[in-house]
Amino acid sequence: MLEVSDLHVSYGNVEAVRGVSLTATPGRVTLVLGANGAGKTTTLKAIAGLERPHSGRVALDGQDITGLAPHKIVRRGVALVPEGRRVFGPLSVGENLRMGGYTAERSKAAETLDRVHEMFPILSERAGSAAGLLSGGEQQMLAFGRALMSQPAVMLLDEPSMGLAPAVVDSILAKVRQMADSGIGILMVEQNAEAGLDVADEVVAIARGEVVYAGPVSEARDNASVLRAFLGEA
Ligand code: ATP
Repeated sequence: MLEVSDLHVSYGNVEAVRGVSLTATPGRVTLVLGANGAGKTTTLKAIAGLERPHSGRVALDGQDITGLAPHKIVRRGVALVPEGRRVFGPLSVGENLRMGGYTAERSKAAETLDRVHEMFPILSERAGSAAGLLSGGEQQMLAFGRALMSQPAVMLLDEPSMGLAPAVVDSILAKVRQMADSGIGILMVEQNAEAGLDVADEVVAIARGEVVYAGPVSEARDNASVLRAFLGEA
């Protein structure tokens, strides 16, 4: 289980994350909602070691991983799938996947690749194609697959549906559910709140760097402030 406690992150003298606490649990999807600039991406980056928190704690299964180098955090079992997917366009699909596995246990690499291909058959079919030639939805699957190659316990997903057609959004989010059902704990930032709620178990809403709501999806749907702020309902 990933536990984030009272995390604070600043850019210069601007405090972007102001005391965020949240958890990600094996087999469950925690959806992080919030307006542009609320501090969602910064929270994920600080967990992944890409921004240094100035206070607070990130722990995985009780072990402190706060502020470790990003590759060490990956090795401990936390993988970030960044906003915009960031696949290596000129490299093949297969090469992208191999790069995702470089921190992982070698003896399990072939087995992990088989599992990734099973979950995303398109990545097997397109193994030799340049990643840059894939569609947006396929690139998102590749970004998921690349993260899975590190054999994560927890995945941090930053806006996986961004820029995708509505029909593709549903299939990508169905894959998110499937990854959680395989036992991974998922912390997902998603602007598409309605679609995100359909696959999530827990909701954390962030405004101006602070958690303003945390609770199960069933309750979030009935919470007036969550509805107003994130689902555009009165
Ligand atoms: P979005 O949905 O637009 O990505 P977000 O909730 O992910 O928003 P962040 O990207 O975490 O928000 O940004 C939080 C705040 O920190 C914003 O005010 C933003 O302008 C600021 N910020 C983000 N990255 C940097 C940076 N590298 N340098 C300075 N300020 C930054």
